[in-house]
Amino acid sequence: MVVDWLAAGIDPAQATLFIQSRMPEHAELFTLLAMSTPSSWLERIPSYRDQVEKNRELATYGFLGYPLLQAADILIYKAALVPVGEDQTAHVEVTREVARRFNRIYSPGHNILPEPVALLTETPRLPGLDGFKMSKSNGNAIAMRDAPEVVEAKIRTMPTDPQRVRRGDAGEPTQCPVWPLHQVYSDSDTLAWVEQGCRSAGIGCLDCKQPLIDAIQKEQQPWRERADEYLANPKQVQWIVEVGTERARAVARKTLREVREAIGLSY
Ligand code: SF4
Repeated sequence: MVVDWLAAGIDPAQATLFIQSRMPEHAELFTLLAMSTPSSWLERIPSYRDQVEKNRELATYGFLGYPLLQAADILIYKAALVPVGEDQTAHVEVTREVARRFNRIYSPGHNILPEPVALLTETPRLPGLDGFKMSKSNGNAIAMRDAPEVVEAKIRTMPTDPQRVRRGDAGEPTQCPVWPLHQVYSDSDTLAWVEQGCRSAGIGCLDCKQPLIDAIQKEQQPWRERADEYLANPKQVQWIVEVGTERARAVARKTLREVREAIGLSY
């Protein structure tokens, strides 16, 4: 995973990459924030309710509290901006409420924990290859370093507009899981070609998918090359994470000192 991030261009000189499970400070802040966070705030988060309805085994205290742990992960670094997908904005909103409440109760006027803001990209939501929520466990994602032939096979087997059963049937791009990918990867000429060709049955679905396959393979090529350099030198990757973990720890410890002080736990 770290190799993927580095290969995508994250610069460890500017970004701190670390291993959270080596930082007990996150768990401590989570516990302290739990004392002032109403459980109703967590129960109303839509993703919690949906997932527990689907799987009762998730109805645990830890799963309910997970968004609060995420809040601690953000607040411990006093983050101003949180790069997330659209489905995570509710979690950032809870983080803001948690910070506001903590500040009001324990540090009025000082705002020890600043309220972060969600940072969305131009593509705040990208559906999976089957049109449903993209997730590795659903098997509907393209991995960053999938081999070119794997990318090709995944796109070629993507479902399309269900109304377009035969080559001669006209389709509707907005009803097709391939269309959101075109909107990310294709220029305006290609988009117009897809719309016209799909609605008139002038192009087949495999014709339509080819520019996408080409664009994704082209995007991934430099990632694979950069990743190869890191994979050939795992010690360098370990060192990047090691340095990042120590850098993160210094910031986390400082925040916790302030939080303990504010709560009155600094003995
Ligand atoms: S032509 Fe393209 S947009 Fe239309 S149904 Fe086929 S894959 Fe989807």
